[in-house]
Amino acid sequence: MDKNPQDIFDYANITDDCIKCGKCIPVCTIHNVNADEVTSPRGFLDLLGAYQRGKLDLDENVKSIFESCFLCTACVEVCPKSLPTDMVIEQVRADIAKKFGIAWYKKVFFLLLRHRWLNDLAFKFGWTFQTCGFKIKKDVDSMSSRFNLPMLKTDRVLPSLRKTSFLNSHAEHIDNGGKRKVAIFIGCLSNYNYKDVGDGLLEILGHLEIDAFLAKDQKCCSAPAYFTGDFDTVDNNAKFNIEYFEGFGEDIEAIIVPEATCSAMLKIDYEHYFHDQPEWQARAKKVMGKVFMATEWLQNHTHLEQLLASKKKDTKIVTYHDPCHARKMQGIYEEPRNLIRQNYNIVEMSDPNSCCGFGGVTMQSEKYHFAKAAGVPKAAMIKKTEADIVSAECSACRMQINDAMGNESTTVFKNPIELIAEALRK
Ligand code: SF4
Ligand code: SF4
Repeated sequence: MDKNPQDIFDYANITDDCIKCGKCIPVCTIHNVNADEVTSPRGFLDLLGAYQRGKLDLDENVKSIFESCFLCTACVEVCPKSLPTDMVIEQVRADIAKKFGIAWYKKVFFLLLRHRWLNDLAFKFGWTFQTCGFKIKKDVDSMSSRFNLPMLKTDRVLPSLRKTSFLNSHAEHIDNGGKRKVAIFIGCLSNYNYKDVGDGLLEILGHLEIDAFLAKDQKCCSAPAYFTGDFDTVDNNAKFNIEYFEGFGEDIEAIIVPEATCSAMLKIDYEHYFHDQPEWQARAKKVMGKVFMATEWLQNHTHLEQLLASKKKDTKIVTYHDPCHARKMQGIYEEPRNLIRQNYNIVEMSDPNSCCGFGGVTMQSEKYHFAKAAGVPKAAMIKKTEADIVSAECSACRMQINDAMGNESTTVFKNPIELIAEALRK
């Protein structure tokens, strides 16, 4: 990315920069499931340019078009001009939200993301009653509806809830010898649903004798709100997290995040979001310089790889899916593989870098038919590897891939952190 955020949000300029080469078309996740020029990167850019020049109204049809981008950044990766299609679409979604409002159920969800205590309460309530409406597969933290509902069919696989969240299960300061110290930013799905990720991370830090600070006041990074255009929630949570991280930043070496989307949001999207608030932009840039994906930091700043090499090799086959927010946005793909391969056999799927089709809150609700269609090729390439385990350092990918593979699949999803923790136990 060679453009600064101030230039990026001048859509008309970005649109003029598009040379219509079409390199982005074959990799575009939405175009692959809805082969129409308007739902392609250059189509989106054309419409955005027309909108900024006042030649296009944001009507229901245009809204629907802009909401069908998966924000996967596959187009940005191949574009010879590095045009940030995803970022301008994120920006126009704020205008859409202002004009059309935000659906009530998304408003409720984003309200929960602003208040940890409310979120804790809601998830506790959900855990108490989840068995009434859902069949639970406890071993894989998944569940399926008992009834066929309009947006929730019985074959849909969703994350199940844990009784106690990760952050509420441990002390805030964990002393592993006091020589080194990191903070953990856990992410909402690993906090409430895939809790073994955080537990595994604590086990790993214990083996490495690195103290952990759980930063229990952390708020959701606000990525779900950002991708939906709810910029009030982004402003609220981002400013809170920046101030909070500034408060303890000097005492720790790094803030490690076992989640691709959350780390990309903190490290990259906060800076873009604050393009018109320079003071906050500078503060975000400074404090988020300490944020790393968990495997990235563990591989590059500790002796974990050597420690794993001294442990037993497992016969299980693992295939690794590259989350868009890890590989395309942060360049992280070698680190998790380097760590996993010390104890497991990795078999690569045909295209590990293709988007799994998660796409965000709107894609998982109103536009679920697109998410479902985009998951089909990913599930097929995973199946072809005959792997026992599919891994990715991202719980949004986990939710989408579990659903795409379906209830009958024998391939189990694990975050690389869980695989590493298991290897250290042997
Ligand atoms: S971000 Fe992904 S879905 Fe959106 S235009 Fe680019 S390639 Fe297509
Ligand atoms: S690859 Fe870039 S320049 Fe080429 S059509 Fe797509 S957005 Fe335009």
